[in-house]
Amino acid sequence: MPFKILEADDQIGGRVQTDVVDGFLLDRGFQVLLSAYPECRRMLDYEALKLRRFYLGALIWFKGKFHRITDPWRQPFSALKTVFSPIGTLNEKIRISRLRRKTTSGTLDSLFEHPETSTLLAIKEMGFSDGMINRFFKPFFDGIFLDRSLETSSRMLEFTFRMFSTGDTVIPEQGMGQIPKQLASHIPSDAIQTQTAVRTVKPHIVELSCGEVLRANAVVVATEGHRSTKLIDGFPEVNGRSATCLYFATDKSPVSEPVLIINGENQGVINNLCVPSAVSPTYSAGNSALISVTVLGNPDQDNKVLEELVREHLSEWFGLDVQYWQHLRTYRIQHALPQVHPLALTPPQRPIKLETGLYVCGDHRDTPSVHGAMVSGRRIAEVVVKDLR
Ligand SMILES: Cc1cc2nc3c(=O)[nH]c(=O)nc-3n(C[C@H](O)[C@H](O)[C@H](O)COP(=O)(O)OP(=O)(O)OC[C@H]3O[C@@H](n4cnc5c(N)ncnc54)[C@H](O)[C@@H]3O)c2cc1C
Repeated sequence: MPFKILEADDQIGGRVQTDVVDGFLLDRGFQVLLSAYPECRRMLDYEALKLRRFYLGALIWFKGKFHRITDPWRQPFSALKTVFSPIGTLNEKIRISRLRRKTTSGTLDSLFEHPETSTLLAIKEMGFSDGMINRFFKPFFDGIFLDRSLETSSRMLEFTFRMFSTGDTVIPEQGMGQIPKQLASHIPSDAIQTQTAVRTVKPHIVELSCGEVLRANAVVVATEGHRSTKLIDGFPEVNGRSATCLYFATDKSPVSEPVLIINGENQGVINNLCVPSAVSPTYSAGNSALISVTVLGNPDQDNKVLEELVREHLSEWFGLDVQYWQHLRTYRIQHALPQVHPLALTPPQRPIKLETGLYVCGDHRDTPSVHGAMVSGRRIAEVVVKDLR
């Protein structure tokens, strides 16, 4: 079936792109692939992507030092030893074990039938202590959902917990941008037309920003949710969550392991940090280390002031050396993830066929993730093929 992809940007990839800056690979915002994502397992060639693994635990900063949490997903009984002992340790371990059992048993479809509330309410109802919530759940899942208040649907918590428990946290050796590149390599390159922004769509009709009008048996809108609202008459609002990512280079890496560092104190501008070059050395130019710092939201400060605030915070963690780290780039992603508050995932998938000749897909139609975006892409392909037969 002949088709054409119209892409406004000068390259494909959307929110999953990697820039090369001074020889460093900079993903546009810190993001990872969870190797257990079923749709990614189905559609991607993991071996060709040369996936590099993160350590399964994390380093959590609180009370003036880093505390190691070892693999809370698979070994709940040893994971919390350092961080939460001695108070409440056994109870927290039992609760983590219960959460793991709840999220990993049954099919993925059955997980999306569990009652839906907010993530914060769900973990409170499970009885986790304030310490466990504030030092682990909040900073960890704030960083994943880009949601400081953890209003995100509990179904996302359960889905993500299941993915962490049953697979690895990885990045491709050459950057996250290799994922869309691999997908695009399966289709003829002349089917993709970059630098072609669309102004409006109607059933069977696409109007480009340059004024040209195209006709097709089926038109699929595959933009970010808020852009679909602009393109399609009457399409509902899709609110988004923002993230800001600052990259630094330094000769002396603050950590040598491929570990995620999270801020377990309810203060300071940084939510999480990692050293991508410790996960995949290809991310770095020469022997320097590449540091990725995530700040939630889109702060009001300009980039220079934000950089100073971040350095100040970093110096508490790693000392005054951070003043010499070279700032490479700051990315502000206004619509990084669609917001999914409770009941947004009831049912877990939103309609993709709007009317005959007009369809919509993307992560805002499914779970906000690379997996969700790809599931919605497959769903749309199946429906369109069926309709046009
Ligand atoms: C900072 C950040 C961190 C993330 N972390 C993770 C993570 O760790 N794990 C995970 O699974 N997911 C993560 N995500 C989410 C994941 O990247 C997205 O869910 C997924 O990439 C969405 O894909 P999509 O195809 O739905 O949309 P997009 O990738 O946004 O693609 C939409 C495309 O439409 C194009 N477009 C828009 N308007 C027009 C127009 N008018 N005309 C033509 N083209 C147009 C855009 O240029 C873009 O290429 C993260 C995202 C960000 C930004």
